[in-house]
Amino acid sequence: MDRVEFFRHALRESDVEALAEVVRGVFLTTGPRTAELERALAEHLGVAEVVGVSSCTAALFLSLTALGIGPGDEVVTTPLTFIATANAVVHCGATPVFVDVEPDTGLIDPARVAAATGPRTRAVIPVHLYGAMADVESLAALCESRGLALVEDAAHAVESVRGGLRPGQRGAAAAFSFYATKNLTAGEGGAVATDDVALAARLRRLRLHGMSRSAADRYTGSYQHWDMLELGYKANLTDLQAALLLPQLARLEAQHARREEISRMYEEGFAGLAGVELPRLPLDAVSARHLFTIWVDPERRDAVLAGLQDAGVGVAVNYRPVHRLTWYRERFGLGPGNFPNAERIGDRTISLPLYPGLTDPEVRHVIESVRSVVSRARG
Ligand SMILES: *Cc1c(COP(=O)(O)O)cnc(C)c1O
Repeated sequence: MDRVEFFRHALRESDVEALAEVVRGVFLTTGPRTAELERALAEHLGVAEVVGVSSCTAALFLSLTALGIGPGDEVVTTPLTFIATANAVVHCGATPVFVDVEPDTGLIDPARVAAATGPRTRAVIPVHLYGAMADVESLAALCESRGLALVEDAAHAVESVRGGLRPGQRGAAAAFSFYATKNLTAGEGGAVATDDVALAARLRRLRLHGMSRSAADRYTGSYQHWDMLELGYKANLTDLQAALLLPQLARLEAQHARREEISRMYEEGFAGLAGVELPRLPLDAVSARHLFTIWVDPERRDAVLAGLQDAGVGVAVNYRPVHRLTWYRERFGLGPGNFPNAERIGDRTISLPLYPGLTDPEVRHVIESVRSVVSRARG
């Protein structure tokens, strides 16, 4: 068996053709394809508006900024995430306040969020980890009662549902990523989903320098002078990216179904295997199945990682908790012992290959490799 890559994108020749069509046209940046993508994604999510931006990091940052969050404010979030979540808070001048996750799901714990909110708290950012949605209903109720904004990190969650809700339907805004390894990808890119039409209008302005008109507005119709209404940023999604993303939306369901199938093969393959545990999926949730992670003995995790790579299986670690990374440790005086559940998961977790192009023999090879490497590591 050749190497099983950790990730391979599922872009096709027909997507290349869709991209080429934009290249052959006049309009390369934010224009008609972006607007089409925004409408299609809004329809899929069941929200009023989607605003295309340059990354999920920008989506989080612009959402917080548009909600008026800045210096002196606190934003409660999870340490078990990619650094982008916390960095977006720091970038807008606010302070991230981490709370621990549930030990069995890895999702932010609403009870701990409630305990961490105070007079300076302005927002809560849950992360829909691996595609399993955090308890948005409880978090939204808490945010409503305390006047806080709920901003979802939905980078893993394009296909997620929990309690009948999709990202962006219950919170103020949900941030998506179209980064190279995400379920929907254009190499780079992001989007904000929101039901708040005024917030969407503000985001459209903030993503493009605070200008009153976009290049597309100026291009269609006769020339009109533009104004700068506020100090914005440069974080717009382009039509090149949208052209690659649009055809993938039509395949979203089929690709999700294949990842679900692969995940079930893994679950069966690891059932009852000593030394391997799996995160629990919330009962009322449909996971987007973005990442498949196993939890192994923390003493042996790095040996298992190495063993899998030797067996030709691509692996990753999602995540070593943010509060243990040097900058966050030094800046906020955090460290080991602060959030034991997140640390325990961070010390044990290994992500396995999960993408629609994975073949059944490749999945079986991954399962066999895990079984043999883990039993060897147990000695
Ligand atoms: C990938 C990712 C991001 C950042 O996405 P970008 O589009 O690269 O900015 C944020 N949060 C989580 C949980 C992610 O996995």
